[in-house]
Amino acid sequence: MNKLLSTFAKLHHLVAKVMYLLLVMIFTATTGVADSKPKLIVQITVDALRGDFPTRYQHVLGDGGFRYLLDKGIYYKNAYYEHGNTETIVGHVSLATGAVPATHGMIGNVWFDREQDRLVYNIEDADYELLSANADVDKNIEIDPTQKAAKVDGRSPSNILSSTFSDEMAIFSAGASKIFSVSVKDRGAVSMAGQTGKAFWFSKANGEFVTSNYYYDHYPDWVNKWNADKPINVYSGKQWQLMLPTEDYMFGELNDHEYVTKLPGFRQSFPHDYGVSEDKYFTTLLTTSPAGDELTLNFAKTLVEQEQLGQDDVPDYLAISFSSTDYVGHLFGASSLESEDNFARLDRTLASLFSFIDNKVGLDNTLIVLSADHGQPEVPGYLNDLGMKDAAHFDMDSLDKTPIIAAVKKRFAIEANLVEAFFQPYIYLNQKMLNDKGIDADEVAQALAEELMNVKGIAYAISSASLSTTNLPDQAVKRAIQNNFHPKRSGDIYVVFEPNVFISDFDGLDVASVHGSPWRYDSFVPVIFVGAGLSSAHVNRLITPYDIAPTLSAYIGSKPPSGAFGTPLLEVLDN
Ligand SMILES: [Zn+2]
Repeated sequence: MNKLLSTFAKLHHLVAKVMYLLLVMIFTATTGVADSKPKLIVQITVDALRGDFPTRYQHVLGDGGFRYLLDKGIYYKNAYYEHGNTETIVGHVSLATGAVPATHGMIGNVWFDREQDRLVYNIEDADYELLSANADVDKNIEIDPTQKAAKVDGRSPSNILSSTFSDEMAIFSAGASKIFSVSVKDRGAVSMAGQTGKAFWFSKANGEFVTSNYYYDHYPDWVNKWNADKPINVYSGKQWQLMLPTEDYMFGELNDHEYVTKLPGFRQSFPHDYGVSEDKYFTTLLTTSPAGDELTLNFAKTLVEQEQLGQDDVPDYLAISFSSTDYVGHLFGASSLESEDNFARLDRTLASLFSFIDNKVGLDNTLIVLSADHGQPEVPGYLNDLGMKDAAHFDMDSLDKTPIIAAVKKRFAIEANLVEAFFQPYIYLNQKMLNDKGIDADEVAQALAEELMNVKGIAYAISSASLSTTNLPDQAVKRAIQNNFHPKRSGDIYVVFEPNVFISDFDGLDVASVHGSPWRYDSFVPVIFVGAGLSSAHVNRLITPYDIAPTLSAYIGSKPPSGAFGTPLLEVLDN
């Protein structure tokens, strides 16, 4: 039956392709305009690539990677997200849909689902199991607390409430466009593939690229072969070493700091051991170093070859999300030798990708767009050393011990548990209890928010109910919180910490930095379009990353994604 279905799917694909080409031929014949559409669109997301990295770390660049992007591309130097919760799934889906989380629904990596009465992980879906039996999240070794929040191992894009650019491309081409997405992180891949593409991501549990039965009934042969070849084993017993001589780095002399994350088995300064392939943290350490990006590149190259992307006149789509910059930032901070060397290696990874694409498809036939899902904060210890004394890790104990929650409970004569869940940035109140007692939940939320505003390190605590009123302080922050508000998923109070203050606790692991704020260091990302014959430009005007998806749509002539509100970028379209 599966065989029959897949034969049917292939046949459908072929028919759709012929139909599409006929349409293009008719269009070309009637208008006399040659079809100049690219054969391949590559959307690269570098997880946590803050907007200043490409210029700040320019001195470590080689040829063909970021140099190609900066010298040949249309480089938008002032792009900022306008939603509050600058986390991975939120940014990725905003890139994919051109919408804000209030519309696309992905308001955080984790939210409290009131129907299920529990925290849920953004893309978990019990209906779509992983195809590999041994690829489930291993909670004993997982260091990502959002992954640990998932109660089921199935994954799908079902929670995404708007169409993606990739979906629109599939609709436009009547299914003829091939659409794929790859990342170390499941949420980095599932987000960009939309409902119509195929997503692959790296399982730290089995060291393989995996997918769920949302996408496939069984793995394509080439994926089985790639995994069977065990490419991760080339890192066994090896180290992450500096790529360049120490004096070539801005942070060459600053290579050992007490504020660096203490991760079991991972040295706090160069060289960093990966351990051997049997070690329980081996695959984790590959992801917290440039090796994760190199493996992603390797898999993506094989995909382009095996799926024959960009080999005919129907444009195909490949999304690649590189995750290492994010993990390295969490562990060592944005201003560290590790981040600088990781950036140098990311540059070589991109150069290798671009030269591969040039060989297989031609860069002139490929439209590439690179951006990031969010930026990065600085480590408070680093800022303290520079004299910025207010930067700090927020002490969760101080919040627990404040008498404010007790005071609010007393005021409303509540004895039961009032706070149902706190998962950044939202506090969820025990609404069922409040309803049962006939207490106005909005009033309680407002009272608690006002009290929280007095806690040191908290800039704003804003109750969701008050979002519709106008007496809120800062307009940009208010808009960011509104843009993040989804009535079924957001909590009762949104907590914004002061700039350079954040909770560093990663489910027990004390990490150097954690993004997720509405402040500029977390919302600032690069946006660069290159290839497809575009002539280069550096653009200083303000844009948003939500502009990318509608720009891609306009570029291929499709309608924009359903929730897209971004503005198509004229420098790309009129180029
Ligand atoms: Zn991220």
